[in-house]
Amino acid sequence: MRTLITGGAGFIGSHLAERLVELGHEVYAIDNLWTGKLSNVAKIQSNKRFHLVVDTILNESVMNELVFKVDHIYHLAAAVGVLNIMDHPVETLDINVKGTETVLRLANRFKKKVLIASTSEIYGKHVGHSLAEDDNRVMGTVKKRRWAYACSKTLDEFLALAYYDEKKLPVVVARLFNTVGPRQTGRYGMVLPNFVQSAILGKPITVFGDGTQTRSFCHVRDVVEALIKLMDEARAEGDVFNVGNDHEISIKDLAQRVKEMTRSPSEIEFIPYEKAYGPGFEDMQRRCPNVEKLKNLIGFKPNHDLEAIIQSVIDYFKE
Ligand code: UDP
Repeated sequence: MRTLITGGAGFIGSHLAERLVELGHEVYAIDNLWTGKLSNVAKIQSNKRFHLVVDTILNESVMNELVFKVDHIYHLAAAVGVLNIMDHPVETLDINVKGTETVLRLANRFKKKVLIASTSEIYGKHVGHSLAEDDNRVMGTVKKRRWAYACSKTLDEFLALAYYDEKKLPVVVARLFNTVGPRQTGRYGMVLPNFVQSAILGKPITVFGDGTQTRSFCHVRDVVEALIKLMDEARAEGDVFNVGNDHEISIKDLAQRVKEMTRSPSEIEFIPYEKAYGPGFEDMQRRCPNVEKLKNLIGFKPNHDLEAIIQSVIDYFKE
């Protein structure tokens, strides 16, 4: 199989590329290295079945050639990281909206199957129970920048499903919940790499807000296995799937677990949201996926529990 991964030098994209090369695929990766890094693909760079193109997915002629060449496309390229999104609202909207439009239009030109990576952000402020694919979305005001990201990814989903319904293009939408593991950088605000780095360095572990907000973390390798199975499953076409681990933890408990597992002397410090992200920020109080649909279709079962997840991130930063 010839596979194109947009965002192939990113955190998730590089793990996916590695796994697909291992499975015998010919992998083409395109990445503009905005948040992706060459070091992410260092392990596979010399493999004859891996090809990296450093360019933007908005470059039509390059994308046209790549899409023509491959059998299917994992579309992972997007603006990522809450801090990044708050700092770069124009680029965020540009890449998430025009980028996905380009991928789908070209995929349709050559009738190539596409898996679109979406996000749990699209559920917005929905709280109260684990989130299922058909739940309503609860968005904040347009004055709060965070929602631009959620809306842009929602539009990506609408567009993908529209291509499926109207043009018969085979598409699958995977809504990724908090994905963590080796190679994820803390630079764009993600919580686990930040906590682990601070703990190792003996710096304060900074919990934003009161720390009662919850998240559910899934190891990147478990996510990658789910994406590959979804791509290979014809019954997934034209549909949307949550991808994540349904084990939920509060952020203050996560800080404590990281502190214990690293045997760190670091203090756990509570920082108001405005100080962390600037004015106009709203957080999600709770976010846990309902993964029944994914379990029923592909028998999804994450192999890494929270302890293994945290340990893999500790090992990565210690290395
Ligand atoms: N967070 C935190 N300290 C940090 C980074 C993040 O307390 O150094 C909090 C953040 O406010 C959010 C949670 O951890 O409530 C998860 O943040 P992340 O950016 O990793 O993911 P997302 O908010 O997109 O779920």
